[in-house]
Amino acid sequence: MKESLLLLAIAASVAVSLNLLVLKLFKQKSVYRSEHSLVGIVCLMLVFSTFIFGEGPKEASLIGTFLFCIIPCYLGTVFPDLDIKYLGIGAHRNIFFHSGILFFALLFLAKKLDIFFFTVFIAGFGIGVGSHLLWDLFDRANIRGISSRGWSRFWLGSNGLLCMLLAWMPLLVLIEGPASR
Ligand SMILES: [Zn+2]
Repeated sequence: MKESLLLLAIAASVAVSLNLLVLKLFKQKSVYRSEHSLVGIVCLMLVFSTFIFGEGPKEASLIGTFLFCIIPCYLGTVFPDLDIKYLGIGAHRNIFFHSGILFFALLFLAKKLDIFFFTVFIAGFGIGVGSHLLWDLFDRANIRGISSRGWSRFWLGSNGLLCMLLAWMPLLVLIEGPASR
């Protein structure tokens, strides 16, 4: 009990410190932005924690891959809100931007190209997008084009979880080796 609390405290301080670094790197100061990027880092840590206990031979370095994922993950947390920038505040929570569609297309491309760093980058991006969509579940606004709160939540939740799952799978193969396929 004591040990797991200590581990949790360490993980939390790592997440907060990494978040401060990323925000500084991208010169971001808004609370809203720091909230989304922190949730992204926490999700990234959760995904990678599943590999710590894996039985595989660890073909790719766990820490190296994790560190490499941080920037694409941050970009993934930014992507859904680019609808404000490109379509205007009136189009916020646009159905395309607040979905996993772009990530799914990029992942398809990554599968075709089969380049280690590109796949890891896209997986990190997917975790960022997924974390943003899942965190938006706690917001009260609807997705444009979906009038009911329930269906908006279903859209965010299902897209968010699918992003997480589809980002986790290629990472599993890259880190634990082809035997995990
Ligand atoms: Zn959002």
